Amino acid sequence: SNFIIALDGPSGSGKSTIANILAKKLKISYLNTGSMYRAVTLFFLENNIEKSDKIDIDLLRKINIDIKGDRVFLNEKDVSDKIRNKEVTENVSWVSSIFLVRKYLVDMQRKISQNKSIILDGRDIGTVVFPNAKYKFFLVASSEVRAKRRYEQNEIDKPLEEIQKDIEKRDYLDSHREISPLKKAEDAIEIDSSNLTIDETIEEIINKMDK
Ligand code: C5P
Repeated sequence: SNFIIALDGPSGSGKSTIANILAKKLKISYLNTGSMYRAVTLFFLENNIEKSDKIDIDLLRKINIDIKGDRVFLNEKDVSDKIRNKEVTENVSWVSSIFLVRKYLVDMQRKISQNKSIILDGRDIGTVVFPNAKYKFFLVASSEVRAKRRYEQNEIDKPLEEIQKDIEKRDYLDSHREISPLKKAEDAIEIDSSNLTIDETIEEIINKMDK
């Protein structure tokens, strides 16, 4: 029968890499919820919506997000690459702390997950979106290791120390916001991947699922 895997953790802990591989291995669906917050952030930036503006349901209705495989569409446009850019990354924390934005996306995440087995990665999957998920994991790694991994991916044109500072800042904002802060669900299994390879991390998760 269908089951849900909640995979939460801070930025750069390797959630999406791990979730992708696990989904293929287990032949289940995968939803990257961070990409949804990023798509909403891109919409805000493109429409000059600012922190001080009133966000209401009529505005949210103009934001159509579609996920097809690993591609993300915002109002029919493929924005998969754009949502990873610097401006979106720098603004996603305040956008994701807006109550209505979260409500809108959490509802969507629950709908997408109906009638299937699925792994979702994010910050609040085990605590808010699916508190009754069959499996819950909380993936962590030191900020130093996470910064190094980002740096080695060569995606960000910044010195290593700056990447680490950015990561620590996002950790702080995500775990100190009032609504759905990043935190380990009490019944989630914490996995520290600082000293593990991707394969070892996957193995550890699968071992824990068998028990
Ligand atoms: O996972 P990723 O780093 O792409 O997520 C981008 C941002 O989206 C996070 O820093 C966080 O502010 C927000 N987010 C969230 N809840 C989730 C997933 C992401 O608040 N479930």
